[in-house]
Amino acid sequence: MPTPLFELRNLTKIYGGGLLGRQASAALDNFSLTFYEEEPKITTIAGESGSGKSTLANLALDFIHPTEGQIVYKGKDLGKMSRTERFNFRREVQAIFQDPFGTYNPFYKVDAVFDTVIGKFKLAHSKQEALKLTWAALEVVGLRPNEILGKYPHQLSGGQRQRIMVARAFLLKPRLIVADEPVSMVDASLQVRILDIFRDLKENYGISFLYITHDLSTAYQISDDIYVLYSGSVMENGNVDDVIQDPHHPYTQLLVSSIPVPDPDIRWEGRTTSSASELTVKAANNGCKFYQRCPHAMDRCTVSPPPAYPVGPSQFAACYLYADTQAAVVAIDRSPVGHVAS
Ligand code: ADP
Ligand code: MG
Repeated sequence: MPTPLFELRNLTKIYGGGLLGRQASAALDNFSLTFYEEEPKITTIAGESGSGKSTLANLALDFIHPTEGQIVYKGKDLGKMSRTERFNFRREVQAIFQDPFGTYNPFYKVDAVFDTVIGKFKLAHSKQEALKLTWAALEVVGLRPNEILGKYPHQLSGGQRQRIMVARAFLLKPRLIVADEPVSMVDASLQVRILDIFRDLKENYGISFLYITHDLSTAYQISDDIYVLYSGSVMENGNVDDVIQDPHHPYTQLLVSSIPVPDPDIRWEGRTTSSASELTVKAANNGCKFYQRCPHAMDRCTVSPPPAYPVGPSQFAACYLYADTQAAVVAIDRSPVGHVAS
């Protein structure tokens, strides 16, 4: 049995809490995910704007606390860690955000980014050792240190600034990087390079990623598995090839069918943003949150939210369409018709 590294257990986040808490809908609803020590992986959280992706990232980074559920790192509940364990968690679970410019102080040379973390986490005993670490980290992300060090943030491109953030995270020898839309502000050509670096860090340094995106094509490009969020709930999850080549949930089918084949750069953003948040409110009907938009909507969908039914060897869809096939899939074949093995 692999050893769990990082466990998100049945996380629910309701903002506001208090008296309104019961009526308010959950920004994230009963979300679970585990990373294992021995199996570094890139897990994508995909969903349109407002689906709860950043809420999940902020929970995983311990920036906000779950309303319900538990977050466990190396066997320790985040809320019950000792000072040393917490310090260790802060080093080993790193964040990369969408806007790299926002994380720089414009008045300091970029060197300060590295000096600060090296100092805070006591990674070096001398200035020379610190510089050596910085150089090595910049080289890992494909930057030439002598073209980067000594510069101010505005003298670098957006792609360079984002790669510096990856180098900064790498320097800390993290086990997991939570990357919330890390390439959505970077040119398409540079997106590929940055995502390739993620894959390199996974394969050669054993670093796992929680990769958050609204872009199904980059998810397909780099991740091992995927969770499709809609209005705070997981609609479908599984191996990324299975889910994208053979989507089962009507929502995933809608998303996949709307990616025009010749243009892999197509994005979902903006498509359904406003209707998604309206429906978040309407979905107080206790049923499936996708009900109002679902071409297969049935009466039972309004009664209670569908559980995750197995639809493939490592694929689940939260949809009553699969309620009857569940037994067949498990007992007979385990690979549904049309399933593309990978
Ligand atoms: P995403 O990152 O997928 O766009 P978010 O996690 O930011 O989604 O938001 C999910 C839902 O939670 C949205 O309906 C959003 O309006 C709400 N939300 C996010 N942050 C807060 C907050 N600090 N207070 C109240 N509601 C919030
Ligand atoms: Mg977000």
